[in-house]
Amino acid sequence: MSKPRVAFLGLGIMGSGMARRILDAGFPLSVFNRNPEKAAPLASAGATVASSPGQAASQADIIISMVADDLAARAVWLGRDGALSAAAPGAVCVESSTATVGWVRELAAAATARGCEFLDAPVTGSRSHAAAGELRFLVGGSPAALERATPVLAAMGKTITHLGPSGSGALVKLINNFVCGVQVASLAEAVAMIERSGLDRDRALEVLTMGAPGSPLLKTIAARMTAADFTPNFFLKLMAKDLGYAIGEGRGLSVELATAAAALGDFKGAIAAGLGEKDMSAVVEPMRRR
Ligand code: NAP
Repeated sequence: MSKPRVAFLGLGIMGSGMARRILDAGFPLSVFNRNPEKAAPLASAGATVASSPGQAASQADIIISMVADDLAARAVWLGRDGALSAAAPGAVCVESSTATVGWVRELAAAATARGCEFLDAPVTGSRSHAAAGELRFLVGGSPAALERATPVLAAMGKTITHLGPSGSGALVKLINNFVCGVQVASLAEAVAMIERSGLDRDRALEVLTMGAPGSPLLKTIAARMTAADFTPNFFLKLMAKDLGYAIGEGRGLSVELATAAAALGDFKGAIAAGLGEKDMSAVVEPMRRR
């Protein structure tokens, strides 16, 4: 049987690595990115570059979006020459961006009205995991749609967890990132405190990273904060977006995410200091300067 044709929308830090995995796995691939320059490496590797999301989607069996936020996703799916208006009935539409539950449910309804299937399938993992096909997919939607998308998702990820109906993947992703954002903000405060105190920083941080709080995230971020290397792996402004979205979801469930609100304050402070386009670990910088 021939492989399903894939359209990939959004070739940023994550999307470029994910699309490359799809191409390398032998799926026919068309790509779209708002800034067309980012499509050049994939074009050289054999992908078809489309001039609009609709053009990319028109011939595809599986359509995947990996863009910044709800607004960007609305633009690529429902905007001018959007993917959904050109999608063939029966195509599986996959929203992999970290987005709100409200948006993915609205998109699910629009996809159904078009005769398409829909999955919310955001990911955990970062730039290196995307490039290596080691992401973890968090999926909401029907088992039948997931079965059809699985060969393509498997080219990009090492695990695919089906969490329930539409919106379940998006919600778990926001809960996951809320916990990550709080950890990064608390580590930043800890680093500032250690540095200000005159303690041996490496030794003190080793206690944290090798001890009970030493999650994989904390280990990675502590190294970036120590090296002051803020090359973006995950834009700081996107973590602020995720915390804001998570607070909104919590509110909808009458759960106040007080720690997320405190962390969001730290990330907003860093954005105000001009660090939004740096890696999220740069949240430590304003605390160092205070
Ligand atoms: P990124 O490098 O900033 O890429 C963002 C993408 O969205 C780019 O392709 C960008 O196009 C596109 N975009 C933004 N606004 C748009 C608009 N109005 N219309 C059309 N396209 C638009 O971000 P990323 O790190 O790849 O993240 C992508 C998604 O994955 C986000 O939802 C993020 O929260 C999530 N995520 C990221 C990570 C990570 O570690 N980086 C991990 C898990 C999940 P241009 O190139 O034209 O700007």
